[in-house]
Amino acid sequence: MTDFTPEIDQFVAELDAAVEAHMDWTRRILRCAVLHAPPGDDVMAPEAHMLCRFGNWFRSHRGHFEALDALSVQRVETVHQTMHDAIRGICGDVLAARPGHMADLQAFELAQDELLTLLARFKTLILAQAARHDVLTGLPLRHGIERDFVQIAKDAARNGSRLYVVMIDIDHFKRVNDTWGHPVGDTVLRHLAATLRRSVRGNEPLYRFGGEEFLVLAQCRTVKAAEKTAQRIVSAVRGAPAPLPDGKQLPLTVTAGLAEVADGETLAAAVERADAALYQGKQAGRDRWVIAAG
Ligand code: GH3
Ligand code: MG
Ligand code: MG
Repeated sequence: MTDFTPEIDQFVAELDAAVEAHMDWTRRILRCAVLHAPPGDDVMAPEAHMLCRFGNWFRSHRGHFEALDALSVQRVETVHQTMHDAIRGICGDVLAARPGHMADLQAFELAQDELLTLLARFKTLILAQAARHDVLTGLPLRHGIERDFVQIAKDAARNGSRLYVVMIDIDHFKRVNDTWGHPVGDTVLRHLAATLRRSVRGNEPLYRFGGEEFLVLAQCRTVKAAEKTAQRIVSAVRGAPAPLPDGKQLPLTVTAGLAEVADGETLAAAVERADAALYQGKQAGRDRWVIAAG
């Protein structure tokens, strides 16, 4: 359930550039062998794998790659270094006019092949994860809720907590679009999503459920704790107005509806009850939370 930021295009472009650069090593080795031309300091340095642009970039995004597949991260680092070591060996022999080693050539070919395979797999994982996330807010979309709901309901039962569905809807959001236009509405929506993200705890996954509706799955030991969660969310939004293009700030509020998930209850049924509670909150004046009767 890792969050994905909207900088996905940039990220995938870097990955593509890394793949291209490492395919290019074959051409560089060939030129070195045929022309006896030095392939460049970045290839011959003992720390070539640390100097290479991909190596630096990969290290600075290690955490993200680890969240996708930690074992493959270690493998990428190993084969990347193996590949650079082999290239140094091959080019070193060529430049010193020594006969080359078959082992170096094989190590290079195998490492290059594995590196490219690993990076292609990471690209698939990244794109699949991005498809499950909303581009505007970076939040997971509703498709994943069903699967998470089943798992979290089990976790809650195991640790003696109850599971609550919290539906959140921005108050009078149409007015924001009508007054400021849709693009500003989008900016406000992104701001509000960031506020919500800060207001929930690590074990309270937050989703963009629909247009300007969000959903939280909260595990709470008592009804009081669930009510505190709802209050925390509503208060956080009230306390974080959105910046406007004219430099002023736009006050924002949300209304939330909570429903405690009954034993064996489906997500759809719990969402319906949370929605009904939300509707009551809207009728009662908005900027508040309402809990559905058990
Ligand atoms: P209420 O307090 O009753 O919820 O009033 P509301 O104006 O928020 O009413 P409602 O929830 O029915 O309207 C939601 C509006 O949110 C309508 C739609 O144009 C707007 N909206 C939904 N998704 C987006 C989006 O991605 N970007 C922008 N800018 N607007 C959106
Ligand atoms: Mg709505
Ligand atoms: Mg609304």
